Amino acid sequence: MIEFERVWKRYSKRRDEWALEEISFHIGPSEMVFLLGPSGVGKSTLLKLITLEEMPTTGTIRVADFVADELTRQDLPHLRRRCGMVFQDFRLIKDLTIHENLAFCLRMTGTLERSVIARAVARVLQSVGIYGKRDRFPRELSGGEQQRAAIARALIHEPPIILADEPTGNLDAETGNEIMALLQRLRVSGTTLVVASHQEPLAERFATRTMRLREGRIAEDRFLRPVGTEVY
Ligand code: ADP
Repeated sequence: MIEFERVWKRYSKRRDEWALEEISFHIGPSEMVFLLGPSGVGKSTLLKLITLEEMPTTGTIRVADFVADELTRQDLPHLRRRCGMVFQDFRLIKDLTIHENLAFCLRMTGTLERSVIARAVARVLQSVGIYGKRDRFPRELSGGEQQRAAIARALIHEPPIILADEPTGNLDAETGNEIMALLQRLRVSGTTLVVASHQEPLAERFATRTMRLREGRIAEDRFLRPVGTEVY
């Protein structure tokens, strides 16, 4: 599902500073991989390489059925639709209701028929438990509800992969656990999840695997529990 083969990444040609060095791994369906490590070790860079928002300096990246080197400009939107993104700060559009936020994503990718949009939005909002809040604006929702809306948005194209950058970073512990439980449900139904975080207790509870980054390298790749349909 996601494969890195000896991937190196630096942002600037001039300086010999590598954000990531010699990264190799394979992540399959129903894995929930936590990328662990303090700020600056390369977690966000790794997520941006998966969506090819950033390109590797060297090495091979395969995501879903796409290979980084072989992609054309037209492939990028298709790849992005295969990877739902969730962020620490939710990134909902503040002047749009929750329904409109999600409908906007569908319209951007060419779904224009109102009834199709309404059905798709209702389906994902029901699946994250905030269908009743669909006509509210983001500011009228709690942090946990906003993150549920952001997860619903990530799910709108039924992606096989969800990438989350510190998804519980702005939430209290209890709400963070609820959000992780929701992501866990997606994993159990076959979605591949990669979560950048520095919250070790969440990784212990929810991850099937942890990759610890240190100075741009994978210092430890640990399998915590079998991948399957169990909820822990
Ligand atoms: P983390 O997500 O673990 O905090 P990042 O992936 O954001 O780490 O950063 C890894 C390294 O890459 C850091 O040294 C950071 O300064 C550098 N970096 C990240 N993004 C950029 C960028 N757009 N331009 C230049 N350097 C960057």
